[in-house]
Order: sequence, then structure tokens, then C-alpha cells
Amino acid sequence: MTTAAHMNERRGYTDFATRLADESYRSLMADLYDSWRNSNRELFDGKLVEPHLAFGRTAPRSLGHCAATTGYGGRLEITLSEALVFGTNRDWTVRPWPAEGTRSCIEDLLLRLTVRQYCLEVLEAPERGYRGFGPLFVREANRIGLGLGLAPVVERRRGPDDQREPLASGWPHCVRSRRYYGADITEELFALAAGRPTAARSSSASPAPGFLELLQYLLLAGRVDDARQMIDRRLEWLRLLRTTSWRPRLAVEEGKQDTDGRPLGEVTFDPAWLAWNDGTVRRIAESVREERTYGDLPVLADALEEAGCSDGRILLHLRERMPHSSRCWVLRLLLALDAQSRPTTEDT
Ligand SMILES: [Zn+2]
Repeated sequence: MTTAAHMNERRGYTDFATRLADESYRSLMADLYDSWRNSNRELFDGKLVEPHLAFGRTAPRSLGHCAATTGYGGRLEITLSEALVFGTNRDWTVRPWPAEGTRSCIEDLLLRLTVRQYCLEVLEAPERGYRGFGPLFVREANRIGLGLGLAPVVERRRGPDDQREPLASGWPHCVRSRRYYGADITEELFALAAGRPTAARSSSASPAPGFLELLQYLLLAGRVDDARQMIDRRLEWLRLLRTTSWRPRLAVEEGKQDTDGRPLGEVTFDPAWLAWNDGTVRRIAESVREERTYGDLPVLADALEEAGCSDGRILLHLRERMPHSSRCWVLRLLLALDAQSRPTTEDT
């Protein structure tokens, strides 16, 4: 049981870390403590006490750990790899926190270690035999996974050929789709987080279905040059995505400004765009939203243009070289067409 003195010390630490710590730590700390509190409230019935959260060095091939004591004898510390949270290892992150995919990857890591915290502090079981990912961890991870719609994990395999279920030490990354984290993180980081030996399972390099659908449409219409140009643009974009780190432009992303920095004004969306070619635009937009493949937005622009959209503000926004996210005003309004027709942006 946690004594009052330890509880106070932990609360004091959290307060310091989220309000007074060095600038480079503070917003990350505040963000991750928020995420931790959400998990505690929604997944653990609020049974946990705030941990000491630290960004530091971790063992090779490890992204974080949870220990019963801190370096000075306090209780419970969760350490996350500083190279991961600060984005200094370029082999891991394409766009560091707070890019959405990287954030999701770090939050999932924190969730994994929060399950460890639950085992250590509430169940009072260190589970040394499985590096901390034994039967109790598996039970809790699978209980949470059931609510989140994730496949179950196991603590060990029955033999080298037993590939039926992924191992708990890579939970929940190992039971999420690679696309869940999008292009913000590398294959290497995903493999590491999911506990896979190599980064062989790559899906981000495969072309999006919407792109192929559009290509097929152009080729069937005999428009070989247009198809070739679309492939060229796509290749150029993918190359840029891997080699360039763009700065976020929130006002542009949220529709307060056009890509040239001027006020956006009122934009009208035509429901016919969604219906074009048996729903190609709708399918691309939905897959970008669900799989967070914002790098496919230029393909959405191509599809919209084919569907009859000629509004430069929409097309240029989707082709703008900057990080897009779930806040993307074009994506939001396009998907909102399902619910109601002719929505407009809120800023005029
Ligand atoms: Zn956008």
C-alpha cells in the first residue's frame, strides 16, 4: 500500500513536471500525464496513483521500462526513451512528437507500462519470469484489448513455429495495424515497439487503394499521359515525405487561412464529388481518416479534380507540403458531407 508521504511526493513530482519543469520537458510531460490519467480513469477504474514519469536512457532495443522504485527510493517510475520522446533518433521518427502518429506510438508505450504499473502496485506481482510480461500482464492487456477491439496476446509461444498470437511484450503495438501510426514513425520503430525482430513487415510503402483506383480509371479512359503524370507526382511526394521534415501550419490546417496565408473565406462542397466513379473520393477520404495516411491527401486532390472540383483552395490545400492531421479542414468538411449537405467553413 502507498503511504501518505509517498502519495504526496508523487503528486508533488507530477505538479513540478507538468508546470515548472524545463520548457523542453513540460508540454510533453503535461501531455503524457493527461494520457496516463485518461487510461487510469477509463481502463483501471482510477485505482492507480500517478507514477514518476521520466525521459531517459533505456536498454538497447528497449523503448521504456517500469520500475517499482525510483533512483532515489521513491515509489514507481515509468521511464520512456528520451531518443523517442524528443525525436533525436531519426531512424525512429520521421516527424517527432506532437505529430499524431508519433504521439499515438508513445501513448501506446505509456499504456503498456501503465499495465506493468497496475501489476506491480495493485496486483503486487513483479512477474520477473517473463521480463514483466507474464500471465498477469497478459490478463490485464487482453481485458483492455477486448474493450479496444484489439486481438489477444500471449506471454510466450509454445515453440519456434508457434506464430498464432503476438507476444505481450509488444502490446498494444503488436496488435494494432501498422497504418494506425501512419507515416510519422519509421518501420524500424514500429518493429521495435511491436517486439518484432526485423522491420520486414512494411506496409507504408505499398500504394493506397484509392491511388490504384484512380490510376485504373485514367487507364480505362485511355488517358495514359495523365496516368503517367499522376505516378510522377506520387513518386515525388513519397520521396519528399521521407526526406523532408515540414513544420506544422495550424491556421492553414484548421481552415483559418488559405495556403498563401490569406483568410480562407467560404468554401462550398458538392455532394456529387463523393458519389463520382462509384465513390472513389469517399473511399480515399475515409481511408485517410481511419488509417491516418495523410500522405495520401494529394491523391485525394487528384480524385476530387477528376470528380469536378475546381476550387483551388481545396486542391492546393491537399497538395500543400506540410503535416496534415485529423484537424485538416478539407478532410473534415468532405467527410461531413455524409451527414449534411453543403457545409461551409466557420471562418469567413
Ligand atoms: Zn490539411
